[in-house]
Amino acid sequence: MFFPSSLGSKLARLGTLAPESGEITVLLVEDSRTVRVRLRETLVNLPGVRVLEAGTLAEARALLDQDAAGLFCAVLDLTLPDASGSEVVDLVSSYEVPIIVLTGTLNPEVRRAVLEKRVIDYIIKSNTGAIEDVAYLIVRLRQNLRTKVLVVDDSATFRTHLSGLLTQYHFLILTAANGQEALAQIATHPDIVLVLTDYHMPEMDGLELIREIRRRYRREDMAIIALSDADQPDLSAAMLKAGANDFLSKRFQSEEFYCRVTQNTNMIGYVRQLRDMATRDYLTGLYNRRHLFELGNTLHASARAGGELQLALAMIDADHFKRINDQFGHDAGDAALKMLAATMQRTLPDSDILARFGGEEFVCLSLLPRCEDAAAHFEALRAAVKASDLRWQGERIPLSASIGYTTALGESLAAMIARADEAVYRAKEGGRNRVVEG
Ligand code: GH3
Ligand code: MG
Ligand code: MG
Repeated sequence: MFFPSSLGSKLARLGTLAPESGEITVLLVEDSRTVRVRLRETLVNLPGVRVLEAGTLAEARALLDQDAAGLFCAVLDLTLPDASGSEVVDLVSSYEVPIIVLTGTLNPEVRRAVLEKRVIDYIIKSNTGAIEDVAYLIVRLRQNLRTKVLVVDDSATFRTHLSGLLTQYHFLILTAANGQEALAQIATHPDIVLVLTDYHMPEMDGLELIREIRRRYRREDMAIIALSDADQPDLSAAMLKAGANDFLSKRFQSEEFYCRVTQNTNMIGYVRQLRDMATRDYLTGLYNRRHLFELGNTLHASARAGGELQLALAMIDADHFKRINDQFGHDAGDAALKMLAATMQRTLPDSDILARFGGEEFVCLSLLPRCEDAAAHFEALRAAVKASDLRWQGERIPLSASIGYTTALGESLAAMIARADEAVYRAKEGGRNRVVEG
């Protein structure tokens, strides 16, 4: 995949709030062919992005008439041969499609006019990196599809107002009329990224809600923006001290609102990305060895203390992996490791802990009803790996793995790993592509 270098690094900084899924369609209205082609080429390089193009207002209208509901957002040039001023913005706005404005210059009137519409941002064409900025914005918007924001206010009117603004940014919106309702929403959706809360509310006010949230979630786990009327200046400090990340007067301008919402959701994204980097393996996305020991030692300790479920540990070693590298090249080897990891993840239940232990070695920790279940559990894993159909430049890469497992807890997690590793050795000796108990 090709990204202009600055876009690549920007996207990398974007964080991992939500993985992308499905396809989105972007309407691009721009009369300059050069700009349009450059934009289209950048946008279609983003995974799952489709672009519809128009060079005039009339063409844009025709496309909107066909399927406005299917549009994720629109990128609009303000000056078109057949449209005056921001006519195109009015048109697209009327179809309730979120808009990113592209403009040559930005005088105060244009700025005011566009910000009143469904415009989520404007980008100055002459700025270097303008094309990349558009792409960045679209990627961010798309992440919002799975980014949960909770709006807490006792006024239904204000809730609707805030929800309307957030809808333009494609956020997944939840609402609550007071602090109690908000806590119930958070209990059902612990993955909420941002809470916007009013102060004056019946049952439980904003200040108490913030304190309650902060008993369980830190500022970098769940962001809170407190909102209140501007005529109570001491309230903002109280809300911030209680644990709000930010404060916004209810008489905000939509531009400021978006800036603050974006800064806070981005911050949570960066923190999650940093956490992922510390716990996950770069190539496969599975847990890394260090994190396996962190999680595994705890599991091992509670298994030794006795529990309902039995702990089983498997070492999974890809067969003849050196041959794959030698025959197909190192890139194919990397692709094979990714496929192996994905296949195992898909096959195992979510409750299993799967980690990349070393090069082509993986460890799986499973909690099973009975020790006797382990053989079938890992046999299913072996069969799934063997059945994977990996193609590299038209040729099939044979994939299989030898699995050694144990349910004997021994003295430590490390002892279990050593035992499983010894069983892998026997699986290799026995002809590979098999499961052996240690
Ligand atoms: P066996 O069936 O006995 O396990 O044979 P093997 O070739 O898989 O085992 P060996 O341990 O001799 O070699 C492992 C190979 O895995 C060597 C190494 O280059 C390759 N490998 C380890 N990590 C990576 C990686 O991240 N990417 C690629 N492409 N290859 C890797
Ligand atoms: Mg090996
Ligand atoms: Mg191997």
